[in-house]
Amino acid sequence: MPGTSRMPVSLRQSIDSVKRSRPRNPMQVVNLNVDLIRNIVFFLFLLRWTRRALWKLKGRGLFGTLFELFTDARRILYGYFLRLPGVRTKVRAQIDDALTKMQAKMIPAGQTRYLSLPKEGWTEEAVRKELEALATMDHTRWEDGYVSGAVYSGEDELLKLQTEAYGKFTVANPIHPDVFPGVRKMEAEVVAMVLSLFNAPPGAAGVSTSGGTESILMAILSARQKAHHERGVTEPEIIIPETAHTAFRKAAEYFKIKLHLVSCPAPSYQVDVKRVARLINRNTIMLVGSAPNFPHGIIDDISALSKLALRKKIPLHVDCCLGSFLVPFLDKAGFDTQPFDFRLKGVTSISCDTHKYGFAPKGNSTVLYRTAELRAYQYFVDPSWSGGVYASPGIAGSRPGALIAACWASLMAVGEEGYLKSCTEIVGATKKLAEHIRSHPTLAQELEILGNPLVSVLAFQARGDLNIYDIADGMSVRGWHLNALQNPPAIHVAVTAPVAKNWEKLASDLEGVVEEEREKERVRQVEALKMGGDNKTGKQKATSGDTAALYGVAGSLPNKSVVVDLARGFLDLLYKA
Ligand SMILES: *Cc1c(COP(=O)(O)O)cnc(C)c1O
Repeated sequence: MPGTSRMPVSLRQSIDSVKRSRPRNPMQVVNLNVDLIRNIVFFLFLLRWTRRALWKLKGRGLFGTLFELFTDARRILYGYFLRLPGVRTKVRAQIDDALTKMQAKMIPAGQTRYLSLPKEGWTEEAVRKELEALATMDHTRWEDGYVSGAVYSGEDELLKLQTEAYGKFTVANPIHPDVFPGVRKMEAEVVAMVLSLFNAPPGAAGVSTSGGTESILMAILSARQKAHHERGVTEPEIIIPETAHTAFRKAAEYFKIKLHLVSCPAPSYQVDVKRVARLINRNTIMLVGSAPNFPHGIIDDISALSKLALRKKIPLHVDCCLGSFLVPFLDKAGFDTQPFDFRLKGVTSISCDTHKYGFAPKGNSTVLYRTAELRAYQYFVDPSWSGGVYASPGIAGSRPGALIAACWASLMAVGEEGYLKSCTEIVGATKKLAEHIRSHPTLAQELEILGNPLVSVLAFQARGDLNIYDIADGMSVRGWHLNALQNPPAIHVAVTAPVAKNWEKLASDLEGVVEEEREKERVRQVEALKMGGDNKTGKQKATSGDTAALYGVAGSLPNKSVVVDLARGFLDLLYKA
């Protein structure tokens, strides 16, 4: 760590030079030295904060810096307001009320709950019967293509094969390659196949993980270790597009990395690469681009990011978790595409989820590195544990070999032709839906698609007076599960194989809901006129759906602690037996 080793050396030299001047009184020497040390410490402190302030000014500009100070101050003050005695009890009551409603929806009354082990084990028959009941509980119909994302293939034949693969490797754990050599082989082959799909150069390497989040955590860990070992960085920073997956923010929180968010402005909704460049300093350990991002399905300008990364000698991670097995096939399927993979020389790591459009069961993803050396930075090795010399590639110790077998089986069964065909179908349906929205008189007038999505996600916001979250709630009433977005308010659909088969229904339901909302808005405006043009009163609604209520609150608050409390309550509910 040069940052810390340099200080004592320079200190020693200064002290030596003081010594050489040989003052007579030894007490004087001590005093002099204490003063000197105090001055040096103060100087270093000043240097550190001046440097930080300059980086901040360079990165955000004067107005950007002032604006950040303003929003921070507003957030803190509003936080105090929320904690005032009267306010706090009121807010708490509202949160509890919302959580009670959530609970009623999530945990149906009248079910038998099993809160401790059955005294005697159930018969197989009884377990099977209960499992059947659990599998068929009333739910949003992904099977019929009503759910954005979530289940990417759902083909019966593939599910059957995956289940068989699970069955053959139920006990397998890749931590014991001698006990389960077949699992080791399959895992290595899955990584090799994905590397080849992303045009990895010779010498590239990868690992498999439990999901996109872990892949991203690992890529950032690798970059952090690299920066620490090679450059002595002790206060790491990453620069990410605002639209990058929240797993990057999670990594920053877990690994104590400073996070810089960069805006992705209209009309392209790609990350502003000039702003990324301004935020780079010698603590920067990684740049990030998405191909495509989750919110808007937009591929960032990876070529520009790659050039920047090369010029500044900083690793660049491309998040292809969602793009997974679609983006590499866009070109072959005859769709527009953009460079995104290892063919861009600045790209040092890529995350790709085999459990998204790779159609493997959940719990499978990969992270790929340009060199084996980069991969080694995510390894954990303990040579001195009393349990023996221990080494594991990633976060987990024991891992499910069954999942690897099911992933391998999926990749082999679908094959290049299968993925090409699904790319044609899924991206094709997405384009048809986009075209329909752009050309339909009502939809085109009320909805605007964000940017130029090239893959499978379409995000749209309301153009006029309609509230996009009301539209989301209207779609829920018709059995749809779409995703609500914020900054700007919008909703999206991630088209999967089941949704691709059902896109026309999605279009017609959207039409229906938009017509309904238009009518409601018309009535509201008429009422507002009747009330003497007091538009504000007119716009207040008697009822609003869950999405509109949540994002109405979330969007208007300078401090989101209320939303955080609500979300924590939601997490608690997940574990309410
Ligand atoms: C889904 C997704 C991830 C994270 O994946 P998980 O498997 O849910 O952890 C990361 N990035 C993007 C763009 C995604 O869509």
